Amino acid sequence: MNTAKFCQSCSMPIDDPAMAGTEKDGSPSKEYCKYCYQNGAFTTPNMTLDEMRTVVKTEMEKRHIGQDVISMAVNTLPHLKRWRNGLNY
Ligand SMILES: [Zn+2]
Repeated sequence: MNTAKFCQSCSMPIDDPAMAGTEKDGSPSKEYCKYCYQNGAFTTPNMTLDEMRTVVKTEMEKRHIGQDVISMAVNTLPHLKRWRNGLNY
């Protein structure tokens, strides 16, 4: 069984519970990381998919992650729950 979880906003793996975002009641989010989601809301509610692409690319380049991995992550973004329906909130 695959238990790997990825943030449904930025595609970052949430393999450590410390990486998980928080719901309004303080419980850990099952879908979003702590950078994207805190206290039941997105930390950057007005961010667009294009902006998220740029952020993910920039962050991964900073960590010297290979271009093929970066483009895979960027191409995954439109399929994530936050972006899939074209909803930006
Ligand atoms: Zn995230």
